[in-house]
Amino acid sequence: MSSSDFIAREDRFGARNYAPLPVVLARGEGAYLWDVEGRRYLDMMGAYSAVSHGHMHPRIVAAAKAQLARVGVVSRAYYSDRLGSFLEKLCALSGLDRCLPMNTGAEAVETAIKAARRWSHRVKGIPEGKAEIIVAEGNFHGRTTTIVGFSSEPSYREGFGPFAPGFVTVPFGDAAAMAAAVTAHTAAILVEPIQGEAGIRVPPAGYLGELRAICDRNNVLLILDEIQSGLGRTGRMFCFEHEGIRPDGLTVGKALGGGLLPVSAFLARADVMAVFEPGSHGSTFGGNPLAAAVAEAALDTLVDEALVERSAALGETLLARLAAVRHGAIRDVRGKGLWVGVELDPAQAPAREVCLAMMRRGVLSKETHETVVRFAPPLVVTEAEIDHAIDVFQAALSEV
Ligand code: PLP
Repeated sequence: MSSSDFIAREDRFGARNYAPLPVVLARGEGAYLWDVEGRRYLDMMGAYSAVSHGHMHPRIVAAAKAQLARVGVVSRAYYSDRLGSFLEKLCALSGLDRCLPMNTGAEAVETAIKAARRWSHRVKGIPEGKAEIIVAEGNFHGRTTTIVGFSSEPSYREGFGPFAPGFVTVPFGDAAAMAAAVTAHTAAILVEPIQGEAGIRVPPAGYLGELRAICDRNNVLLILDEIQSGLGRTGRMFCFEHEGIRPDGLTVGKALGGGLLPVSAFLARADVMAVFEPGSHGSTFGGNPLAAAVAEAALDTLVDEALVERSAALGETLLARLAAVRHGAIRDVRGKGLWVGVELDPAQAPAREVCLAMMRRGVLSKETHETVVRFAPPLVVTEAEIDHAIDVFQAALSEV
């Protein structure tokens, strides 16, 4: 079967909730992917940061295979010999006390929302039904009905209401607006340290530190969604480390699954996590032995291969070289670590057209909001590969 046959079949039987670039991928290794015709592509997307270790990292694949020879899923009705060491490692890396494993990012965020609300009722004393969580305009925290209910993107919300109340939105990057929005009923502030899906929007330096101070002053939980920014993407294990702060709650996902499986987690201070007792929350697959083995190998690989340091060093190269690209359509170049967005004037160079032209030249990226081309390669990418991707980006810009 050819690419067009695969595309036709997916289009015929699948829901139309994505608009993929027309490439049919069949194999991956490191920073490369191959399509069904055997063409090779340099991956500058990293599956929305789920593939930070590179495709099919041998150590993570070996951990998965070893676990597959033993047991995959036992449910949380029992203990397993894999879960504890994974939880311990993630707690140690994040500096938080306890970890609740889930599967997808949206589930981890839902867990954070439930924890914040219960903590606010039981510990802070906010009456039930009154708790508010302050979020930022432009946020992306997933696709459940509660989460899209506080999205500011019309296409994520339209027709899906009624939505859950209890969320207040303020502009992103504006600590004064956040401080002004806090009331006696505020349970938590929930933000991404850098807004990924909004187009890699980086807040002013000091923003997270100011949010930390606002939360401390008002007995409000600071919950950071590091599902995309975490695990080395920004050149630190977690993005909050850039500002020397620690959140009270943290969501992690994507790269936690080592590019193989959906694995996510909500981490928190012990007194926050204490609001969950048996029966109050759960997931059939969350923390299953296969996921735990893969996630632990993913964490070990990040540390042992110094992928976080690599992201910091190569990220500077990526940002500097993209900033040096001269083209009339470029409006902004921004990012941290191996995570950079180039904002284009869509009248001169629509981001999708640029991504299509890059694809034809063997480099995969994907547009965000029609105006941003993102560069978020697996952290194993080399400097020469980054140079090549930027040459291709430049050529694509001239072509469209
Ligand atoms: N939170 C952030 C910051 C994300 O970037 C994403 C996905 O892009 C999510 C949550 C949702 O994750 P998932 O698609 O695994 O539910």
